[in-house]
Order: sequence, then structure tokens, then C-alpha cells
Amino acid sequence: MYDVVIVGGGPIGMRVAQQSAKAGYDTVVLEEHNIIGTPMQCAGLVSPRVVEMTGTKSWIKGAKKAAIHPPDGEPLVLNAEEHRAYILDRKKFDREMAEKAVKRGVKIKLGCRVTASYKDDIGRVISFKNQGNEREISGKVIVGADGPNSVIRRKTGFDGPAYIMAGLQALIGYETEEIHIYLGEDIAPGFFAWHMPHPEGTLVGLASDDGEGFRHLDKLLKKLGWDSKIISYYAGTIPLGRLKRTVDDGLMLVGDAACQVKPLSGGGLYTGLIAADICAQTIIESLEQDDTSSEFLKTYHKAWQAEIGSEISKGLWMRKIFKTLTDQQLNDLISTLNTPKVRKVLEEKGDIDFPSTLAKPVLKTAPKLLKFAGPFVKGLF
Ligand SMILES: Cc1cc2nc3c(=O)[nH]c(=O)nc-3n(C[C@H](O)[C@H](O)[C@H](O)COP(=O)(O)OP(=O)(O)OC[C@H]3O[C@@H](n4cnc5c(N)ncnc54)[C@H](O)[C@@H]3O)c2cc1C
Repeated sequence: MYDVVIVGGGPIGMRVAQQSAKAGYDTVVLEEHNIIGTPMQCAGLVSPRVVEMTGTKSWIKGAKKAAIHPPDGEPLVLNAEEHRAYILDRKKFDREMAEKAVKRGVKIKLGCRVTASYKDDIGRVISFKNQGNEREISGKVIVGADGPNSVIRRKTGFDGPAYIMAGLQALIGYETEEIHIYLGEDIAPGFFAWHMPHPEGTLVGLASDDGEGFRHLDKLLKKLGWDSKIISYYAGTIPLGRLKRTVDDGLMLVGDAACQVKPLSGGGLYTGLIAADICAQTIIESLEQDDTSSEFLKTYHKAWQAEIGSEISKGLWMRKIFKTLTDQQLNDLISTLNTPKVRKVLEEKGDIDFPSTLAKPVLKTAPKLLKFAGPFVKGLF
């Protein structure tokens, strides 16, 4: 019987594990893969907050400049004075998070694929497969940090994401320095495409909601002239929505498993880390008071919703608006933003963790933009 069993050895599960072990609780992480950080499914773009919160050294580059390309027309080039984002070496970051956890006393069991969880008289039991053998482990608190397709979420009666986006990336053997975003029905319907630096070259990726990711990526790579430079592909999913419930008796969901993801960008590292800290704090208090009931653990659900729930809801609204825009409207939108005055607002106030905070100052500078929000405008404020 462990105090805390964490399912999933990604960065968010490791963040929770680091803190519960530091507080003296016997903590184990079960990870289905044999190597932490592999397979890599992320572009690694994060705000400076993530670097500060984790103290990570696993970043490749700080970014001040980004270009947003409309389907047709001049790109919107933003050039901030300070670093507005960092690009992480995601494999290295995951390993760094795991190493910190081990230093604090966390046990990590690799090659353990969790298949189910059920309650017994003294806690929760987790069933998993390891080298072909069926095994079980018990914990006073179980944390489902097992990513977008969370087994814990699916097998224990929680709701699932409202939308699932398919993300696809190609690693290209060609070095680039800048971040580029591409918009358009033909490029990434319902979302966007990107290319950005990676330690071994450049990552070109996109998410889309039409199930045609490979075809779109292929086209984009041809357009960029990089179709002969592909080293490897990475695929992953992005869960979007706002779950009504993320706890049960002795059970908590965190990170992508809890859909703690920014709906406009698909980024989940900042939001997941914020929730992980609240999750760990709640676990510590629940073990101190010997109360792991759903009633007690609800404080976690309420607290993470208070911290990031409103931004997630606003992001879902903005995504609804975004999805209604035709290519012509996207061209129009980017050209309306592409004035010195609006660019200055975007460069000074742009915040990839809280994009909704830009809505008011940008609309004040360019009221013409209101026409793009149409019937959704009320949801933004
Ligand atoms: C294409 C793409 C690009 C992205 N780019 C960015 C970005 O630039 N910036 C950003 O902030 N976010 C980005 N994200 C999102 C980001 O990757 C996630 O939000 C983040 O990884 C969430 O961390 P996590 O620890 O919750 O889940 P994960 O990182 O998914 O970790 C979950 C872990 O659980 C393990 N696991 C799963 N099932 C089981 C099981 N049954 N038993 C045991 N272990 C299991 C997995 O192997 C994995 O190690 C991107 C996602 C995709 C798909």
C-alpha cells in the first residue's frame, strides 16, 4: 500500500510526485513506456512562467519573434522586446522532471501499463500489466496523470473531452531559428500549423479536426520545400473541454487526463503544472487529515477551476469563433491586425497562457475586429 500512486510518468504526474514525496509520503509512478520522454508528442513551446516554475534547464531557445501566416497575404510578424516564449527540448524536460522526482524519493516503475482501477476497503487498487504479467498495487490516493486518452478517466466513470484534436509533427533535418504559424482551411482546418526549432532540426506540425492530418502535413512540407528532409513523424492527441468532475473517492485526474489544456493553442504544460501544484497540495492535506473522500478532494477541483477554468472557457469560445472563419475572413483578420498600433499591443501584452486578456486591448485599438466575433462576442468578456 503506497500513500500515492501516480499513473503516467509525464511531466504533470512527475510534478505531483515530486511534491508528495517531498512531504514524506510514499509515492510511486507507473509508466507504460520503458523510457521517460519517449515517444515525444509535443512542440515544446511554453511561456516563461513554465521555465520559472520548474527551474528547467531543458530549453533550446527563448523566442521574441513569431510570424503568423494567413491563407493568402502578408504575414503578421511580431517582434517583442522580451522573451515571450521558450522552446523546450521536450524529451530532456520529461527526463529532468523524472530525475527531480527520484531525488525526492519517488519510485518510478517503467513498462507498467495500467488497465483498470477499483475501490477496496482500505483504498484504491490499480491493475497493470508488466512484462506480460497481470499485477496490482494499492494506494490511499490514485492520480490519473496518464495523458489525453487516460485509462483512469475512461475506466472510472468520468466524462471525456468535448473535442479531441489530432496532432501530427515531422522532424526535419534543417535548422531554423524562428516560430511560424500557418492558418487556413487547406493547411489545418479548425486549428493551425507551425514550424519551430528543435534540438535536431525543425519541427513542422499541425493539429486539425478532419482526420486528414497526414495529407495536410504532406502538403505543408512540400510548400516549405522540406518534403525530402523528413527524419521522423510524431503523432498525438489534444483533449479539449472543461470536465465537470476531476475527483472521486481516493482518485484525482490531472494534466491532459483532466483536459487542463488551452483550447486555442492546445498547450497543456502551463495549465497542467498549475493544476499539479494544487493537486499535490490537496493530496498532502488529505493524507494529513486521513480523509481521501471525494468530498475532501473536491477542494482540488474547485481550486484548479478557479485558477485556470475561466481561461479554458474563454478559449473554448474563441475557438468557436475561430472555427467559423473562412479563409477570406482569416486573410481579412490578419490584415486588420497587421497595423503598427495593433502589432504594438500584441507585442507588449501578448501572453500565450492567457490569450483572452488580449481581447479587450486589441478590440479597443481595432474595433473593426468585433465583426469577426459575431454572436459569440458576449462569451469573451
Ligand atoms: C502535436 C502536439 C503538440 C503539442 N505542443 C505543445 C506545446 O508546444 N506546448 C505545450 O504546452 N503543450 C503542447 N502539447 C500538449 C502537451 O504535450 C501536453 O499538454 C502535456 O504533455 C501534458 O502532460 P501530461 O503529463 O498530462 O501528459 P503526457 O505528457 O501525455 O504524459 C502521460 C504519460 O502517461 C503515460 N501513460 C498513458 N497511459 C498509460 C497507462 N495506461 N499506464 C501507464 N502509463 C500511461 C504515457 O506514456 C505518458 O508518459 C502538444 C500536444 C501535441 C499532441
